[in-house]
Amino acid sequence: MSTQPTDPRYSRQTRFAPLGNQGQEALARGRAVICGCGALGTTTANWLVRAGVGKVRIIDRDLVDWSNLHRQVLFDEEDARQVRPKALAAAEKLRSVNAQVEIEPITADLSARNVQRLLHDADLVLDGTDNFETRFLINDFCVRQGIPWIYAGCLGAEGQAMTIVPGESACLACLVPDCPRPGALPTCETAGVLGPAVGVVASWQAGEAIKILAGKREAITRGLVVFELWQGRVRRIAADRVLGEQPCRACVRREFIYLQSDRQAPAVTLCGSNAVQVTPPETRLDPGELAARWQGLGEVSLGEGFVRLQTPDCQLTVFADGRAIIRGTTDPAMARSWYARLVGL
Ligand SMILES: [Zn+2]
Repeated sequence: MSTQPTDPRYSRQTRFAPLGNQGQEALARGRAVICGCGALGTTTANWLVRAGVGKVRIIDRDLVDWSNLHRQVLFDEEDARQVRPKALAAAEKLRSVNAQVEIEPITADLSARNVQRLLHDADLVLDGTDNFETRFLINDFCVRQGIPWIYAGCLGAEGQAMTIVPGESACLACLVPDCPRPGALPTCETAGVLGPAVGVVASWQAGEAIKILAGKREAITRGLVVFELWQGRVRRIAADRVLGEQPCRACVRREFIYLQSDRQAPAVTLCGSNAVQVTPPETRLDPGELAARWQGLGEVSLGEGFVRLQTPDCQLTVFADGRAIIRGTTDPAMARSWYARLVGL
């Protein structure tokens, strides 16, 4: 099925002169991959599918939960009741919105092992992830392959986004030279997040995506954009100020270390028990600090050199070297997802 610029569905969009019929035709040929289908991913997928992007692949490792519904706009109560895989639930909604778009849901944990297969044919990659480990993987792959991608993140009422065009702009490793150490940053689980804040950032991302896929590269926003909804502030940091002082590991020195399969935190199912061990790269974290962040999320207990969180779904024990044992699942992808949300990767 092809999308036609004369289709009344797109009439208001094509009347917008900077896009026009020619931009619409380019959109219909575009292939976007959305990595992560949470608040960012559902919002960007919604806009891209409505806008008539030809093909949208949605990759997510997670299941719909009641705590998602306040901000993840493609999911409803029935999805949470059935604990449906997010990629599949999103695809079903999106097909009912625009049957002309080819939507490919993939329930998988994006890693160095499958990144080539899942991203190689993309014209554009959108960041809908919740952790820096996966963002750096996307960055290294896209910079190596010369595929544009749009970084985005949100926490509390603040979010940021940056469009990365390899060879033309700074990359994520220019902005943040290395992955923050596990447990170093708060997460949406521990610090909370406002739906409209993610909505602003994701809509910004979708706007940038439409410019790129429509071939309107001259309109791309350069540099980092930061939104703070509670205080009502918007800042734009110029592209040249994003560049670090050292030549960038990824886009200058072309050392794509996150594409090495051993970079990702291994998650191993523990034999004979309903548990998975997640072992991030060597780190030190303060169990007491983590205990403070987890207040209100479940029953928190501090032991010698470890901290434990008991929720109705899982029991998470994290040691001072960052290693964790997660009871309540035998699925490594699910365990990594809980780790990313509750500890931070
Ligand atoms: Zn760079």
